[in-house]
Parts: sequence; C-alpha cells; structure tokens
Amino acid sequence: MHVNAYAAKSATSPLEPTTIERRAVGPADVLIDIAYAGICHSDIHTIRGEWGDVPYPLTVGHEIVGTVAEVGSDVTKYAVGDRVGVGCMVNSCRECANCLAGEEQYCLNGNVGTYAGIDRDGTVTQGGYSEKIVVDQDFVLRVPESIPYEKAAPLLCAGITTYSPLNHWNAGPGKKVAIVGLGGLGHMAVKIAHAMGAEVTVLSQTLSKKDDGLAMGADHYYATSDPETFDKLKNTFDLIVNTVSAPLDLKQYLGTLTLDGTMVNVGAPPEPLPIQVFTLFNNRRSFAGSSIGGIRETQEMLDFCAEHGIAPEIELISAEQINEAYERVLKSDVRFRFVIDAATFA
Ligand code: NAP
Ligand code: ZN
Ligand code: ZN
Repeated sequence: MHVNAYAAKSATSPLEPTTIERRAVGPADVLIDIAYAGICHSDIHTIRGEWGDVPYPLTVGHEIVGTVAEVGSDVTKYAVGDRVGVGCMVNSCRECANCLAGEEQYCLNGNVGTYAGIDRDGTVTQGGYSEKIVVDQDFVLRVPESIPYEKAAPLLCAGITTYSPLNHWNAGPGKKVAIVGLGGLGHMAVKIAHAMGAEVTVLSQTLSKKDDGLAMGADHYYATSDPETFDKLKNTFDLIVNTVSAPLDLKQYLGTLTLDGTMVNVGAPPEPLPIQVFTLFNNRRSFAGSSIGGIRETQEMLDFCAEHGIAPEIELISAEQINEAYERVLKSDVRFRFVIDAATFA
C-alpha cells in the first residue's frame, strides 16, 4: 500500500512530501494509523549521514503513536481501535541471549531499526513521518489512555532512552543524579529521575531554561558555561546521564562523580570522545553507554509515566514545518520536543 510521507533524497536535501510503500499486513502484523510522530535528534544525525551512509530516499521518525486500523490473523495482543506506539526498532532475531533476556535493543544479530534498517522482506524500513506503518505485534507498545495522545510519541524514544539508564543505575531516593543537556531526552530524564525519587541537577549550557527545568522537578540547575560550576560540583554525583548531541570535555564532567559514580552517555555525537584514564581512577569512576531499551522495559516506562502523570513538553507542528524544526533543534531552540501532527501528511 502507498502512504503519504516526508523523505529526504540525500544527506543535504530537505525533507519533502512523497509516498512510500508499506507491506501488506501479515499474520503477526498490526497496521497503525499514525496520529503523531516526534522529532528525535537521531533523525537528524541519520538523515544527514552523520553516523554513516544511509539509503535514500529515506523517511525517518521513531517516536510513533497511533491507532490500530487492522490486525493480522495471528495477532492476539492488539485489536482495532487500540492506542499504540512504536519506538526505535521493529524487529530483532528473538533467539540470541540478549533477545531472550528482553534486551532486544542489544540483539547480537542486530535489531531492525524503524528506519534505515533491512526489513524481513529485504526492503529498507521507513520511519514514522508518514500516515501509516505496519509492524509486527511483538514490537508494538500499548499507550495508556491517561497519557495525552499528542504528548505520548516522544516517550517511545526520549522516554525509554532516559528511563533505561536511570532504572539500570538505580536512580532513586538518596541518589544525586545530574542530567546534561535540557533538550528532548534531557527534559524527560529530569521528569523521570525526579519521579524515581532522586535529587536531580540539570547541567545546561546557560541558565535560559532554568525555570522550566525546576518546574519539571530539578532540584538544582547550573550553567556549564560558568567556569565555577565544575569546581563547585566536584565529587558530587552518583550518576550523570549525558544527553548532549555534540562532543563535551568529559574530564570536567567525570570530575563531578563521587565514589563509584557512573557517567552514562546516551548522547550520540559522531565524533569519538577522548578520556584520560586517571580521571576514572579517581573515585573508581565508570564511564558507560546505553541504547534505548527493550520492549518489556519500554512498556514498563509507559506505565510508569502514566502512573506518575509524566509527559513531555511539546511543540506541535505540521509536516511542512519539519525542516524549520530541524534547524531549531540544531540551535538547541526546542521546548522540548517537536511533534508532527500526522494528519498533515495527507
Ligand atoms: P536535543 O533535543 O537536540 O537535545 C540535546 C541538548 O544537548 C540540547 O538541548 C542542548 O541542551 C545540549 N547541547 C546541544 N549542543 C551542545 C553543545 N555543542 N555543547 C553542549 N551542549 C549541547 O537532542 P535529543 O533528541 O535529546 O538527542 C540527544 C542526543 O541523544 C542525540 O545525539 C541523539 O542522537 C542521541 N540519542 C541517543 C539514543 C540512545 O539510544 N543512546 C536515543 C535517542 C537519542 P542545553 O540547551 O540544555 O545545553
Ligand atoms: Zn530517537
Ligand atoms: Zn537477537
């Protein structure tokens, strides 16, 4: 079936209206009428070829919510009319140790990305900046009704990518957690860490979003452009979640970790980040990475957000504003996630 979408023809061309092909609904598949799609910074890194070559034309978007329009004959988990979501992956091998552990994002045979991946029929997967998508039921999430529909999409990437490391490294009461960068991921990290009971500090380039950060649940807020910030915060944090899309001077940030503290990078700049090992020797510090989250944990995150009344702050845009939104994301001028109204793809 042909559906309306937005795609780029090359790493340097803007996104434009087009049509893409969706596979016929197979026995285990769910057809979703997309309602909203979030804009993740990863969409921009990918479509501009910053992380390596990708096939064009390409439609990105991996923060997808919509309504089930049709189900295959073997589908048991979803019914027509259900409110559902799709995140960054649409399949995995389901057999390797990591898949069996419910960590499909770390599939040893490579998970199938929602876009720019190779689908089971050999075609290139196309993402959520489109009207409809067909996805295997095992990679579809249930979106609780209490989460406002237009705000749910960013949870499928920004939400799970921050929930997973906060959960894994035990953010909670008595823990001092710093969130670096108050963008799409960062603002979800603040809300989730606060709901988990941690003492939350935002490290942003400036104080321009301080009131927003405190309203989201941050206890402290510092500008990283202030040379005194890193001195004041030496040996402070149990956990740092770095969401910044560009390289940082890691030494300064690692210096703020306390004994056995961990800095987790979820930000994904294309450039390598150099580390001076002596910075890790002090306080027995760890430097780690984390990639999205498994399907089971993604559902847990959605249910956690529903239970705690957590949703992202969004700017709702139409499809024709996507290119302008990209430029604003690149200037850190987003409060705090752009969400595309999928009705405007028509
Ligand atoms: P975003 O909305 O653009 O947020 C990034 C924030 O980083 C900005 O709001 C800004 O915060 C800060 N920042 C940007 N440029 C900076 C610079 N040069 N120096 C210091 N700080 C800077 O992006 P996002 O969608 O949250 O994504 C963030 C990163 O995570 C991207 O690299 C994305 O690809 C990656 N990501 C990774 C995963 C994963 O699985 N690991 C999943 C999703 C996204 P302030 O204005 O507060 O300083
Ligand atoms: Zn993403
Ligand atoms: Zn696997």
